[in-house]
Amino acid sequence: MFQGMNFAPAKLPGELEALRHEVRDFLSAERDWQPNSDFNAGASPEFSQRFAAKGWIGMTWPKAYGGAEKTFLERYVVTEELLAAGAPVGCHWIADRQSGPLLLKFGTEEQKQRFLPPIIAGESFYSIGMSEPDTGSDLASIRTSAEKVDGGWRLNGSKIWTSNAHLNHYMVTLVRTAPPSDNRHAGMSQFIVPIDAEGVTVRGIENLAGEQDFNQIFFDDVFIADDQVVGEPGNGWAQVMSELAYERSGPERFLSAFRVLAEFGKSLTLDSSEEMIRLYGRLSAHLVVLRRMSISVASLLESGVMPDTEAALIKELGNSYERLVPEMVRLHLPGEVPKALADALQECILHAPSFTLRGGTREILRGMIARGLGLR
Ligand SMILES: Cc1cc2nc3c(=O)[nH]c(=O)nc-3n(C[C@H](O)[C@H](O)[C@H](O)COP(=O)(O)OP(=O)(O)OC[C@H]3O[C@@H](n4cnc5c(N)ncnc54)[C@H](O)[C@@H]3O)c2cc1C
Repeated sequence: MFQGMNFAPAKLPGELEALRHEVRDFLSAERDWQPNSDFNAGASPEFSQRFAAKGWIGMTWPKAYGGAEKTFLERYVVTEELLAAGAPVGCHWIADRQSGPLLLKFGTEEQKQRFLPPIIAGESFYSIGMSEPDTGSDLASIRTSAEKVDGGWRLNGSKIWTSNAHLNHYMVTLVRTAPPSDNRHAGMSQFIVPIDAEGVTVRGIENLAGEQDFNQIFFDDVFIADDQVVGEPGNGWAQVMSELAYERSGPERFLSAFRVLAEFGKSLTLDSSEEMIRLYGRLSAHLVVLRRMSISVASLLESGVMPDTEAALIKELGNSYERLVPEMVRLHLPGEVPKALADALQECILHAPSFTLRGGTREILRGMIARGLGLR
């Protein structure tokens, strides 16, 4: 049966403008980075630490662990400003967006006290260990596995496309802890793997732009203590699925090409063709709609709902949009292009193919949306 989606109108309260200006002031004092269109590609531990000192990492988390108990809408404002500025957020992004919330939801009290305060202080950075060399979309077919030993688990296998593992301290890793059975989703667990543990090897992979932002990781008899298993062994699939609304609904899913749009807007003059002005209007209008949808999801998260289907829709529409922006701007450019726009375009075009892959491909998201709507 067809089921609707929940995109109730939500507005950012006016008083959040003060926070927005505070973030902008911080960023303009900091600004010594090369803006980029991949939120993971720019990473600076020093930036993340100074940012943390403002109380902006783990800002929605309980005060008991060092958080600020702010709202998801306040967090939305902060993340939006970071992305619009192309700030080097790669070190703390995953821990703040999803590893911390995962631990808050499923971790033991001891894990929360041990792992959350260093994240909030901007001293502890996390990667996502889901994809494997033969397994991306079909995550249930992972082969990295662990067997029970005295006091913990012995981990063997390999993960791939692991963003920033060469810079980070931990990766929350999905592993098989029981052999595959008729229930493909049973028998998986999530481990907090220290990336510097004995038996872990990180091998960098260069992306199309010539940067190293992701890696292949090898686990060779890595010992993981029992107290580094997140939640119940065997509950890994349900836990991973619960991360997805955080992973897919944020402004990083439609702001990757923002710099191209902004530079395109700046390049327009009263003499620009009507075609170019129309294009700028259309692309801006799309952006406003995506932003309203994403704010709506942030307000659902605030009320404790996990809007998986809505998040998948934002990612699918947002990724399509951020691939369309550089393409449309490139096709409509006149001969003479300001250097800032040419630089933004060049950099964005090299990263754009990954927009619709990272975090789940378009085909997979469309399947999820159809299932969420009751259409399959
Ligand atoms: C920049 C970047 C950063 C990444 N960072 C991380 C990370 O930090 N951690 C991590 O774990 N992973 C990461 N990934 C991996 C990403 O999640 C996978 O690339 C993605 O899930 C797709 O998996 P795959 O590459 O194995 O492609 P495949 O699953 O092999 O898919 C290949 C093609 O087949 C299509 N396809 C597959 N199955 C179906 C189906 N059932 N129906 C229709 N079409 C289908 C896909 O849509 C795709 O077009 C990253 C990827 C990129 C590009």
